Amino acid sequence: MNTYLPHFSCGVDAYESIGSVAGVYGTTCALIYGEKAWNASREELLPAIEKAGLKIAEKVCYGHEASFENVEKLLQNPNVVNADMLFAIGGGKCIDTVKCTADKLNKPLFTFPTIASTCAAVTKLSVMYEESGVFKEVVNFKKPPVHSFIHTGIIAKSPDIYLWAGVGDTLAKYIECTFSARGDVLTFEQEFGVNTSRMCFYPIIETGARALEVKKSGEVSAELEKLILNIIVSTGTVSITVGEDYNSALAHAMNYGFSCRPHIEKNHYHGEVVSYGALLQLLMDNQKEDFELAYKFYKDIKLPTKLADLEIDADDPMEDILAITVVNKELEHVPYKVTAEMIKKAVKELEEYNKTH
Ligand SMILES: [Zn+2]
Repeated sequence: MNTYLPHFSCGVDAYESIGSVAGVYGTTCALIYGEKAWNASREELLPAIEKAGLKIAEKVCYGHEASFENVEKLLQNPNVVNADMLFAIGGGKCIDTVKCTADKLNKPLFTFPTIASTCAAVTKLSVMYEESGVFKEVVNFKKPPVHSFIHTGIIAKSPDIYLWAGVGDTLAKYIECTFSARGDVLTFEQEFGVNTSRMCFYPIIETGARALEVKKSGEVSAELEKLILNIIVSTGTVSITVGEDYNSALAHAMNYGFSCRPHIEKNHYHGEVVSYGALLQLLMDNQKEDFELAYKFYKDIKLPTKLADLEIDADDPMEDILAITVVNKELEHVPYKVTAEMIKKAVKELEEYNKTH
């Protein structure tokens, strides 16, 4: 079994390393990007590629969805097929599309995340959708991308909402993975991952609010850089090492449950919805200290702490949501059976807690 931990360059000078890192893999690259990401990064990226001595074999937009149709289009593009390496420039959906393409072509892939919302840039899986946007499947690969160039200056200027939602998903990584792994005998890799997941929680609780505040001005700070790295690299490291059983628990299961209400998909972000379930899980699991830390932080940065924040009535019976949640596969591997009653009780308690805090 092989383990590939994330490789990355980070900073406003991250693209300076393209030559020394990617140069050994050949002389030509195909740039595959999301439209907005391309506009946000090309002024930095094009001179950096030139300076690195690499020739651009192709510049092409990946499409608008992480779909197999878009992968197929890239596989039919001779300039992509003939390039020595692929560069994926964009958010999760673009990167996931190019990961699939690079795997099929067996070519080295380098990622250039232009937002910090998920760990897609460093992980070895792709979340694939139908062209219509409906979820299709998760595809696993043998290796993650070779290296990620994380330009903090570009991410600092990306829309605030992505980083904010990314914080929600990242906090959940610690909350869920420590829960689902509890009591198990772990391998070295799994233990490494579960311990790394602390980075997804405590440093963010400590300085995350300041980082988000500074980001509003488009400036880079040490706190912002740390936050970006925790969202992309710490979460990615956990994802790569802990394995399927320990990657998620109640927070993601509830996210699937909530998604049966059409307004959730329309008006709310994945990380936002997941964060509510993560807070709920802490309360249900009676983890008082972490719950209080998280609750206060959620209030500071306005992550959801009650149903009204997700446009759901406090007395909504939630039967439909809970029916989907309790049978979700993310709840198959948890330390005790999580029932609809337990979740309902925690929802009520959380609503009450909101009235006094
Ligand atoms: Zn997630």
